[in-house]
Amino acid sequence: MDPNVLERLRDALRADQLDTSPSALDLHARGESWDAVHPPAIVAYPESTEDVRRVMALAHETRTPVTPVAVNSSLGGHTVPVSGGISLDLTRMDRILEIVAEDFLAVVQPAVTYPRLNEALRATGLFFPVDPGAEASLGGMASTNASGTLAVRYGVTRDLLLGLEVVTPTGQVIRTGGRAPKSSSGYALTQLFCGAEGTLGVITELTVRLVPRPEAIMGARAAFADVRSCVGYVTDVIQSGLPVARCELLDAAAIGAIRQHLGLELPDLPTVFLEFHGDDASVRSASELALDLAAEHAASEASRATDPEALSALWRARHQAYYAMVAVNPGLANVITDVAVPVSRLAEVIEGSLAAAERTGAPTYLIGHVGDGNFHLTLFFPVDDAAARARVEAAYDEMVGLALAAGGTCTGEHGVGLRKLPYVRAEHGDGVDVMWAIKDALDPGGIMNPGKKLPARGG
Ligand SMILES: Cc1cc2nc3c(=O)[nH]c(=O)nc-3n(C[C@H](O)[C@H](O)[C@H](O)COP(=O)(O)OP(=O)(O)OC[C@H]3O[C@@H](n4cnc5c(N)ncnc54)[C@H](O)[C@@H]3O)c2cc1C
Repeated sequence: MDPNVLERLRDALRADQLDTSPSALDLHARGESWDAVHPPAIVAYPESTEDVRRVMALAHETRTPVTPVAVNSSLGGHTVPVSGGISLDLTRMDRILEIVAEDFLAVVQPAVTYPRLNEALRATGLFFPVDPGAEASLGGMASTNASGTLAVRYGVTRDLLLGLEVVTPTGQVIRTGGRAPKSSSGYALTQLFCGAEGTLGVITELTVRLVPRPEAIMGARAAFADVRSCVGYVTDVIQSGLPVARCELLDAAAIGAIRQHLGLELPDLPTVFLEFHGDDASVRSASELALDLAAEHAASEASRATDPEALSALWRARHQAYYAMVAVNPGLANVITDVAVPVSRLAEVIEGSLAAAERTGAPTYLIGHVGDGNFHLTLFFPVDDAAARARVEAAYDEMVGLALAAGGTCTGEHGVGLRKLPYVRAEHGDGVDVMWAIKDALDPGGIMNPGKKLPARGG
């Protein structure tokens, strides 16, 4: 980086807000489930919107790349600063600014994590219902349009954003949306910045919707001889209109990793985990119907779960599933698919994807938010084995191809990052040219998280 830019950054922020130590650069050179590393030239830790504005104004003037990062749990190279420049680490902007229970909203800085917001909401009877597995930040979740196990009932992050404060790539501070429950005013900028993966600006404040905690919760699980039967069951459960709040599928390999690493007793079979939210009567009758349907689909085992402690332990384990798979495959790299398809096409796409994975010989684990047609296959391979990597990459292409052919998407929730760049044009066609026009209008210098989200022009 130009020493002159470094000098001017030192004028813009305090000394303890800048770090060029090898450990800081190394830490900010890598992401989860992406084994190529690239360090930034410097890490900057803004503490306020004004800090971010100063950094962005300088970066714009000097054409310096900026890569925002928060918890760094995104899967696919989103935060790796492939063009060097500034890694803008937002973790110090972590204050909950306001909770307005009577309007069902909260205002937070971007590094507030969703578990911390929910802890602060405990006494209000409200909660923020998006729960990706990692303890992600709300700014990161807005930037990837994250979802999680509860999206089938409460929606994804985009559905729960009322407004944002954003510092644009040219250093302008803007507000999008507001506090009204609905609005038809202007273009939908809140929704545009949501899912932009830090390529259109830096989110410095979020106004999020909250929802009431359910009066009653009941769980059910059903294990089947094979994955196809699980998916047939899920399709029926969803199409029957039950008040499903969670609907997750884990295959026997994923359950094995959880048993081995987390010591949770679960059947050694592909299993569907359900949760119902509502009042006492509705969750009871929904879970009864779910068990009846399980019997009709010849479940090997089906049971109801009413104990809140046991349910929490189960979902904690589900959230730890990725780390369990990594722990039982020490030293191996991995890739994770994230396709989402219409629920009616789920069975054929999962089957085709499992067949493609099996041909690679790689250890493979299936986990799915199948209630909304989204599933992940995680494939492991030795980092230095080029042939194994090539086999896994080819299978990945095939799996995404199956999802797109079924009317699906290459990424249901993780976002594009670097991993899904090859599929964006196939999914969106000439829509990519419109995306580039938006990118160019907002970021004329091309400095915001370059190399991510959109394939190279014409690519
Ligand atoms: C074990 C595990 C389980 C997971 N489960 C799920 C899941 O169920 N559902 C799901 O959706 N995801 C899941 N993820 C992925 C990840 O948690 C989400 O993508 C999450 O939204 C990332 O948040 P973060 O704070 O870690 O963001 P980071 O990884 O730090 O950043 C993510 C992206 O947002 C940008 N960014 C971050 N903060 C800002 C900001 N303030 N302004 C502008 N851009 C910003 C970054 O540049 C990057 O492109 C999982 C990850 C792990 C490790």
